[in-house]
Amino acid sequence: MIPVQFDYAAPTTLQEALGVLAEAGEDAKVIAGGQSLLPILRMRLNAPEKVVDLGRIEELRGITDEGSHLVIGAMTTYADVLASSAVRDHAALLVEAVKTVADPQIRHRGTVGGALVHADPAGDVGAPALALGAEFVITGPGGERTVPADEFFRDLFETAVGEGELLTRIRVPKHTGWGAHYEKFVRVAHQWSIVAVGATVRVDGGSIAEARVGLTNMGSTPLRATAVEQALVGRPATEEAVREACAAAAEGTDPPSDLNGSADYRRHLATVLTRRAVLAAAGA
Ligand SMILES: Cc1cc2nc3c(=O)[nH]c(=O)nc-3n(C[C@H](O)[C@H](O)[C@H](O)COP(=O)(O)OP(=O)(O)OC[C@H]3O[C@@H](n4cnc5c(N)ncnc54)[C@H](O)[C@@H]3O)c2cc1C
Repeated sequence: MIPVQFDYAAPTTLQEALGVLAEAGEDAKVIAGGQSLLPILRMRLNAPEKVVDLGRIEELRGITDEGSHLVIGAMTTYADVLASSAVRDHAALLVEAVKTVADPQIRHRGTVGGALVHADPAGDVGAPALALGAEFVITGPGGERTVPADEFFRDLFETAVGEGELLTRIRVPKHTGWGAHYEKFVRVAHQWSIVAVGATVRVDGGSIAEARVGLTNMGSTPLRATAVEQALVGRPATEEAVREACAAAAEGTDPPSDLNGSADYRRHLATVLTRRAVLAAAGA
């Protein structure tokens, strides 16, 4: 199918984009890499009167080092993240997750901001952003506000970004020297996560000193496995100790049941994948 006819705007500054959005109101839809939105338009699941393309707004793209944080512009592509030594050095979990997203063509077009605002519970960037304690800078007609990760994801495909607003950048606290791994369970290559787990840990003298664990597709939003994080601290980075701590990985989750697996199967997967992700992140 081809999309319903729409007007197209390609602003070159953030202010201009906000102006176009304010004028068009609820009939406007923002396009970033188009990797989720274009299929939606083609299937006519959404029929905006105006599509506002963020692709020419240079200020929304790029990765900068702000001392304690990395700042990732919303229009930064997955490929930009993979090419960044700063992200590799200070937020390795993001690189590990992005490596598993789709294929090189989609990673070349798809953006970090687009993926986060789209908020597909099977998307691979949300759980790592949550685990790393990212902050989301949202800009609207009234100015800028910063939303912590645990308040950004509201529900299935729903975030704190409101009508007329744009996600402009993501601030990621540095986790320098932390090990990281993203364990994604799929049946065929390039598939969306049936369940995935992102873990990043700081090992000190053979023991886990700090741990952050995020779960993908274990509920309507990305989730933190806080019980596991707490149970891991102070334990030796050994198979037995990590297995015991990861037994609680599915606690507080509400996974879907679908053709790829039942909710119970996903709970089992979460436990197994969390153990694997933590052990790999700890280099054990
Ligand atoms: C075949 C295929 C396989 C895929 N496999 C995976 C996978 O394995 N893992 C995975 O995580 N993803 C996967 N994806 C999705 C991909 O990651 C998309 O790139 C991503 O979900 C959306 O990013 P985008 O830049 O293309 O956003 P778009 O499609 O342009 O936009 C997505 C949504 O976000 C809104 N939006 C975009 N940017 C902003 C902004 N700055 N402010 C406010 N609203 C904004 C848009 O209005 C739209 O509603 C796949 C996609 C395809 C087509």
